[in-house]
Amino acid sequence: MSAMLPVAEAQAIVQQHARPLPPETAPLTSTTLGLVLAEDIASDIDMPPYDKALMDGFAVRSSDFLDDRAILTVIEEITAGQTPRLALGPGQAAQIMTGAPLPVGADAVVMVERTQLLAENRVQIDDKPPTPGQHVLAKGREFRQGETVLPKGTVVRPQEFGVLSTVGRSAIRVHPRPQVALLSTGDEVVEPSQMPGPGQLRNGNGPMLLAQACRAGALPRFLGIARDSGESLRPLVTEGLRSSILVLSGGVSAGKLDLVPNVLQELGVQAHFHKVEMKPGKPVFFGTRDNTLVFGLPGNPVSALVCFELFVRPAVRRLLGYAEPGPHLVEAELAEDFVYRTDRPTYHPACLDPSGKGWRVRPARWFGSADLRALVQANALVLFPSGGHQHRAGQAFSVLPLDL
Ligand code: AMP
Ligand code: MG
Repeated sequence: MSAMLPVAEAQAIVQQHARPLPPETAPLTSTTLGLVLAEDIASDIDMPPYDKALMDGFAVRSSDFLDDRAILTVIEEITAGQTPRLALGPGQAAQIMTGAPLPVGADAVVMVERTQLLAENRVQIDDKPPTPGQHVLAKGREFRQGETVLPKGTVVRPQEFGVLSTVGRSAIRVHPRPQVALLSTGDEVVEPSQMPGPGQLRNGNGPMLLAQACRAGALPRFLGIARDSGESLRPLVTEGLRSSILVLSGGVSAGKLDLVPNVLQELGVQAHFHKVEMKPGKPVFFGTRDNTLVFGLPGNPVSALVCFELFVRPAVRRLLGYAEPGPHLVEAELAEDFVYRTDRPTYHPACLDPSGKGWRVRPARWFGSADLRALVQANALVLFPSGGHQHRAGQAFSVLPLDL
């Protein structure tokens, strides 16, 4: 249990225990944005429902054009929302607006800019002969009634909101957002509203993890600060175990008062790993009780943040139904030479710049796992291998973007 696992193996173990939450019906509102469809969506109509003009101009019969010029008789005007009353005969045109249905007989639209209105309802077309279908979207061209327009597994983005509404769906089956309970632990930790006394510090991790959970798509709930005692931890952990995910910070290292793993196991949590070969974040704990995933993150703020991104966020994404729950690392070129020695693979705060030809990464100034300030200047973590190395500008490294 206390052998150090490589990060990838630890991530695989988390994924083995993370299952998409049972689907629920949800209305199409801002809270549905980013959720994953748990059903195929079929259209109840042809789209477009009629042959539709894509330009303001004149609906014409392409067979009327034997040479570059034609003079046609305008028999009616059709605006969007109207239905044409008349069919076009030879030598006839209808003035038409974008979005309006083509009249029977018409098979093309000529842009108004290429025409001149003459006296007595006549129009002169100053354009090359229109090809059949020009500036027309044929009925059912986008999709047909009964066709699956969005398959199960689709992430609902703004364009999916548009398509769902187009096919008349205002409620959909989705995997709901997981509830994530957050519990800070530590005798030295006080509320952010308090002035810390000697040896104390404010609970930075609670709000930080709440924001990370939110950004991952979960519904976070803060349970408070537990003291380093079984009596304080037990009721709060019990409460947290009612959520899909329980995240604790602090109390998982080798210190005398690092009671979290023992209390979790006392309350029926089965441990899957404790210690991962990484820096920061080595003491991270993962266990399960029934369907609840339990993460014990180290108390140092950078460790907590990094472990959340590497282990908790992908679990949240999996529960949300994402097929590729991440983390999604990119390859980036080192912007400058960097001499670095570390005894474990290290996720180092860094600035990732997407502006050039490829990604470029610059390590941030960083004083270790307690130095959260370094992450304020950073937007990524660059992964450095263990050992002593003189990394060179231009060398490629794996980078985890934090803000995408
Ligand atoms: P622990 O993992 O409990 O040994 O905590 C390691 C260190 O992280 C502590 O000594 C604190 O300096 C810091 N720490 C623990 N909990 C928090 C917290 N909630 N917010 C900010 N820093 C914390
Ligand atoms: Mg502690």
